[in-house]
Amino acid sequence: MTMTSPILEKYWQTPHSPGVYRMLDAKGKTIYVGKAKDLKKRLSSYFIKKTNHDAKTAALLEMINDFEIIITSSGHEAFILESNLIKEYNPKYNVILKDGKNYPLLRIDMNETYPAIQRVRKIKNDKALYFGPYSSSRSVNKTLKQIQKIFKLRQCKNTQFKNRSRPCLNYQIKACLGLCCNDISSVEYKKQVRDAILFLKGRSKQVVTKLKIQMMDYSSSREYEKAAEIRDTVFAIENILEKQVVVSQDLKDRDIIAFAAKKGRAVIIVMAVRSGYLIDTAYYPFDLGFKEPDEILSAFLEQYYKNTEFLPSFIMINQEIENKVYLEHLFAEKKGKKVRIHIPVRGEKKRLVEMAHVNASRELGKRLQKEEEERASIMMLKELLGMERLPLKIECFDNSNLSGQDPVSSMVVFKDGRAFKNGYRRFIIRDLDFQDDYAYMYQVLERRFSKDPSEMAYPDLLVVDGGKGQLSMAVAVLKDLNIENSFMVAGLAKKNKAKGEQFDKIYIPGRSNPLKIGQSKKALYLLQQVRDEAHRFAITFQRKRREKRAGFSVLDTIPGIGPKKKKVLLKHFKGIGKMKTASIKEIALLPGMNKTLAEALNHTLNRNG
Ligand code: SF4
Repeated sequence: MTMTSPILEKYWQTPHSPGVYRMLDAKGKTIYVGKAKDLKKRLSSYFIKKTNHDAKTAALLEMINDFEIIITSSGHEAFILESNLIKEYNPKYNVILKDGKNYPLLRIDMNETYPAIQRVRKIKNDKALYFGPYSSSRSVNKTLKQIQKIFKLRQCKNTQFKNRSRPCLNYQIKACLGLCCNDISSVEYKKQVRDAILFLKGRSKQVVTKLKIQMMDYSSSREYEKAAEIRDTVFAIENILEKQVVVSQDLKDRDIIAFAAKKGRAVIIVMAVRSGYLIDTAYYPFDLGFKEPDEILSAFLEQYYKNTEFLPSFIMINQEIENKVYLEHLFAEKKGKKVRIHIPVRGEKKRLVEMAHVNASRELGKRLQKEEEERASIMMLKELLGMERLPLKIECFDNSNLSGQDPVSSMVVFKDGRAFKNGYRRFIIRDLDFQDDYAYMYQVLERRFSKDPSEMAYPDLLVVDGGKGQLSMAVAVLKDLNIENSFMVAGLAKKNKAKGEQFDKIYIPGRSNPLKIGQSKKALYLLQQVRDEAHRFAITFQRKRREKRAGFSVLDTIPGIGPKKKKVLLKHFKGIGKMKTASIKEIALLPGMNKTLAEALNHTLNRNG
């Protein structure tokens, strides 16, 4: 945000009244809507007070070009107006939970004959069942693994399912019944799927009771093999249940949600209790930005339950929120039955909320400590490199190739000492069909830093993987582009164990010897993290390119598929991945193709699972 005087003038004229404000960008688009009991006081946090904000708040501040206010007669009126304006403008910065794309969900469509369980990122209006959102890939994967182990639902895509001639690895590891090739009736399979759904809803005890009855039926009809299979499933579920803690004696479903805030940061914990068992705990971190804690909590509740399939009848929270009645009404509409949001004042429920709050506070403490350590490393790095400003944004480049083939380069970005994946870039080296790391690096740095800084801002520090040679080459590029004084450059070279070197070496321009690390190990560690991430990113990209090439060459091994048909296939599917999962019918319909060729292609591409 540029503090132009018209904005400041407007700010000084703002009254100390309740109301709603809209922040506008340079194009006049509403990017944030907020309410305040005292508009002037609230706006002072935007325009007057300067605090250390996180990346999202800093980005909002950067974009604000103007603001509008509407004065209301009460805080309640401001609340209603704020809700309406958020609905109307859908402002980017009002979304506190990263949208559904970023939180994984599990999806099961019972309308399919053989429903699959899939990881998805968005809820579609398609009558399928969605479970989650899960707070991380790790937690969704853990659940998926349990489902596979116990219920053996298929996970493959529909096209793959239709075209398989042999079961895939999931069948070998007993994580799928091999529905694609084995004769299993849809009715039988759907029984398993229903049990899996109950399990996902936290009704594991109900599943166990059902299964035990089935097991006894099989035993009495002397179908011992089937009874034994069910017994194993029961054991697996009971094993999971044993690890879950009983937190409530009344066996009701409830979510316990607590909020903890400190130093401008906040953590919300969601503890999901189903039938008395604590089945999941998830933490959601936030920057308070300019919001009051109760605003964060109510915005969280609204956005969180918009993305969940299951809404419990009781939601316990640890602090008052202004729009409780509105949210209860909204949730009741979704659930089709009353939903109560409350702060328990005594007994077991109060204890549960307090426990949730302790955990949220502990998590927040851990995160704050980590932030402080990251900050300390950044300051240390500034001192070590003799920089004038803090290296808040670091970029690092690395190359990867296989004996000169498919050379690529990666660029990773660290902001505030942490990987900033949205800033990562990949480069395919152009027109250099020989192995030359310096030439690759020159090309990539030149391509990167030719970009106008208004399009892609310069870093505070550029790190290259390597010693004096690589560093000189990087400096040469910056000189050629006339930007050698725009930011700091450093080279990080591996230690030479044979020479007894203890640490990796940091080189900076104008010094022939590496810097003395001394007490600045944390600074070195930060640089190593950045370099290793660039290395990992480059290697992954190179591997993908290699696999793609290998995939393309597989086409050459199929009799009847020559250059023309290969071109048609690659143009249509834009890669081997989609070709592999396409149906035989779809392939056969392409120009020059027929059923026999399509079958041969499908078989060749899928024969290795
Ligand atoms: S075994 Fe068959 S049905 Fe099961 S996941 Fe693999 S391809 Fe799909």
